[in-house]
This record gives sequence, C-alpha cells and structure tokens, in this order.
Amino acid sequence: MNAPEQVSPSLRLPAGLNFIGGAWVDDASAERIEVRDPSSERVLGSIPRSTAASVDHAVQAATAAFNDPAWAGLPPLGREALLHRLANLVEQHASELAAIESLDNGKPIAFSSTLDVPVCVQWLRYFAGWPSKLSGRQLAPAMLPAGTTHAYTLRDPVGVVGAIVPWNFPLVLAIWKLAPALAAGCTVVIKPAEQTPYSLLKLAELIDAAGFPKGVVNVVLGDGSTGQHIVDHPGIAKISFTGSTPVGKHIAACASRDLKRVTLELGGKSPTIILPDANLESAIPGAAQAVFVNSGQICFAGTRLFAPRKLFDQVLDGIAAVGASFKIGAGLEPDSMLGPVVSQRQLDSVLGKVQAGVNAGAAVHSGGGRVDREGYFVQPTILVTSDRENPAYREEVFGPVLTATPYDDIDELAAFANDSDYGLGAHIYTRDLSKAHQLARRIQAGTVWINTQLAPDPNLPFGGFKQSGWGRENSEDVFAHYLETKTVIVNIA
Ligand code: NAP
Ligand code: MG
Repeated sequence: MNAPEQVSPSLRLPAGLNFIGGAWVDDASAERIEVRDPSSERVLGSIPRSTAASVDHAVQAATAAFNDPAWAGLPPLGREALLHRLANLVEQHASELAAIESLDNGKPIAFSSTLDVPVCVQWLRYFAGWPSKLSGRQLAPAMLPAGTTHAYTLRDPVGVVGAIVPWNFPLVLAIWKLAPALAAGCTVVIKPAEQTPYSLLKLAELIDAAGFPKGVVNVVLGDGSTGQHIVDHPGIAKISFTGSTPVGKHIAACASRDLKRVTLELGGKSPTIILPDANLESAIPGAAQAVFVNSGQICFAGTRLFAPRKLFDQVLDGIAAVGASFKIGAGLEPDSMLGPVVSQRQLDSVLGKVQAGVNAGAAVHSGGGRVDREGYFVQPTILVTSDRENPAYREEVFGPVLTATPYDDIDELAAFANDSDYGLGAHIYTRDLSKAHQLARRIQAGTVWINTQLAPDPNLPFGGFKQSGWGRENSEDVFAHYLETKTVIVNIA
C-alpha cells in the first residue's frame, strides 16, 4: 500500500516511504497506519509506523551529513543559495502543495493556496538571508590586562535536530523548523503527524531536487511511538517539538536524561479582549476569524472572548453571524471557508470538550454539534460562561469553539487574561492605544496582537509563556536554539 496514490488526473500523492540519506526507503517490519481525507473519511493511503531501526538509520544519515564537508564545509552563501532554490521550487509547485495539504488536512484550498504555501516560501526566503549574518564576536576579557589576550566566540550548529510536527499546519510548521535549522548548518530528522504526512513527503522531493547534500534532511513517518524513538536517540542533539502540552512535558522529561536541547511550541487558550471603545466593525470579524479559521486548529487561536456586558449580545450575535457565513465544505472545494477537523479522534475530542463545558454549566449561544454530512465537520460554536473553572474556559479545545465571558470592569481584564496555564497569544481590540499598550504589558503571553489577529511574521519572535512552551521560533531569536556558543581565549602576551 505504499505506491503513489493517483487522487485525480492532476493530483498524485507521494508514496508512503521514508526519505533517508537521499533515498526513498520502506520500513518493511513496520505496521501500517491509514491516512484519511477528513472531508470524506476516505482512506488516501498508508504510512509505516517506523521502528527504532528506521529512526537509527535516519540519525546515522543525518550525522554523516553533519560531518561531511559537502555540508559542513559549505560557505554560508552556499546554504543561502540552497534555501533560495528550495523556495523557488516550493513556489513552482505551489498549487500541487496546496492541493495535497487541503486533501490531507481538510483545510480550505482558499487558505492553503493563499496562506500556508506562500508562508512557506516567505519563511524559506527570510531564513535564506541568515547564514551569512550568523557569526561570533570579538570580546575583551574583564579580568586580564588589555592587549594580552585575544578572545572571541564561534557559533557552531548544535548537531542533528529531531523535529516533530503536528497536523494543523503540516507544511508551515515543518518549514518553521527546517528553515532555521538548515540556515544554522544543522542536519535534521523530521517526523510529520501520522494524520498529515503527504506535504512533507512532497517537500522532501523538492529538497532533493534543490541539491541539498544527501542526509541533510531525513523524513521518518510514523506516530507517537516513532516520535519517541527520535526523542530517545542519543545521536539527536536537539528536539524541536510543536504539539500538545502533555506530549511536550513528556518530551522534556525524556530529554532531560541526556540533556538534549529542547524547544516546545505547545497549546494555548488565548484571550480575545474587546474593550468598550473598540471599533466593532473590525473587532467582530477579527474575533470570529481568530477562533474559526482553520476550524480553530491553531495553537494561538483566540478561544476565550471577553466583551463588555453591555455589548455582549451584540458581539456574540455578530461573531456567530460571521461563523455562519463561512461556507462549510471539503478542503478541495474552491469556495469552502470552513473545513473539517483533522480526524475522527479530533472530532470526538472537540465534541466531548463542548459537552463537558455544557455539563459544567456553560450555555450554548450557537452551534455545539457535528455538521450533518460526511466528514469530520464541527459547527462554529460559541459557549457562554462566567465560571472560570468551567473546562471550556480552561482547556484547549482545538476546534471552532469560542468560550465567551462578559465583564464589567476593565481593570479586571489582565487578571482574567492571565488566569490560564497557557500564555501563547492575546488579541486586544480598542481605539485607545495607551490602554492597549498598558494591557499588553500586563498580559502574560508570547505575542499580543492589537487591532489585528493571527499574524505571525518570520522576523518576529513567536512562542509561549508558562505551559505554552519553551523557547522562541522565527526571527534571529530562534538561532539561540540551533547554535552553540564557543568561547576561544588566546594568550598573545
Ligand atoms: P500530539 O500528540 O502532541 O502530536 C504532535 C506530534 O507529536 C505528532 O507528530 C505526534 O505523532 C508526536 N508525538 C506524539 N507522542 C509523542 C511522543 N511520546 N514522543 C514524540 N513525539 C510524539 O498532538 P495530537 O494528539 O495530534 O493532538 C492533540 C491535541 O494537541 C490537540 O487537540 C491540540 O489541543 C494539541 N495540538 C496543539 C498543536 C499546536 O500547534 N501547539 C498542534 C496540534 C495539536 P502522531 O500524531 O503521529 O501520533
Ligand atoms: Mg497524535
């Protein structure tokens, strides 16, 4: 079952094979995992639940590539050229990559073609600019007489990176790890989520075509057990993980055994705060997009809404109307705006969390159930509660589900926003910029958006406070996690 799948005359899915050391290889001893189209529930193909032997093979290939002068000896401009070539190839294959992503994940093609794939190109180009700017510094020792010592720092790539990515933005989140790791001179073993392997397999074809030396990027397919083999492998220097907070905590505990470097980009329960003076004509659609785009499967989705009590009904009715206006449809339908959630398991999880919120006293303002059609579609849902212990208020749902709470006093807002184990993002809507900046300072979150929503940028750090993770992705800051600093001290007296 790992032959290429001809989905339509124009769309062929890559075969479910690992990409190791520049070759496509099967894991014959592995069980197979079915991959489904969440819009139709149809099986698209299968991938191996790769074993420890496959992971070891990939780590060996990545280690050999890390030490090979073909990669290690490449001048920084050589890495820049490879990243630009890959960006060009992604651009040339944009419509195919977008179609694969929409089929595999269910996300509307209107988004994958205008958001996911262009973001990948922009990130590759942004990081292509970095290799020639990464360097150490010359420093003067504080305790030695001037002129007696020459001291400087070097910045060495950390080694083989184990990258583990989820299914909500399969290609984007893979690129968020690959681009800086490759810019830094690392080599990579990367595992996509079992639900959405195909866009990364297509990317591996393009990485090969771009001319990256064999073994610099290796793709190993599988589920959490395969991810665990990556986490446990002594040849991996650093784990870069995006996914759920429980798995992130588990990975941190495992990695502490040999002190692997770890960065974690985890869950969130990000607030959207509408101040009494906000322009509701932009705040209402903004708040709706922040929670319903990608069917709510965004780690920094605005899932807790705080609106003034006197505007509460108007705001909720407005958000519900925006949600209802999103055309529900399969990923590949051109006018679809709201796709399914990724899997039967995710559907059950989202509906179970809505029910738990209702059981604990939350009122259903709108939605609340499955859409009556094939595929794992969930209605845009708004729950109302003022009980900050309600599970719908506290727990990440990862579906198109907003939990709304009215407020009376804006001085309470920072405390409300911060009353969460998470701290990934926050959205504020107001016309009063001094209030906005004051609130932004008091909110514990990695990113605060003011009068805008859901807009990461390659040159802006992204990551979480508290249980939303460790470290930052994007921007120059990300290199702190892919480079080690080495200090060299020379006696010249
Ligand atoms: P998950 O289990 O954390 O999966 C994320 C990635 O980690 C996948 O590639 C997964 O493999 C892998 N993985 C799982 N267990 C592992 C282990 N022990 N060692 C190494 N890797 C491991 O997330 P999920 O189960 O797919 O989704 C559950 C919830 O996570 C969602 O409902 C949502 O709340 C949250 N989530 C957050 C993000 C985010 O962007 N922060 C993204 C996705 C999900 P397999 O999936 O192939 O098993
Ligand atoms: Mg999973």
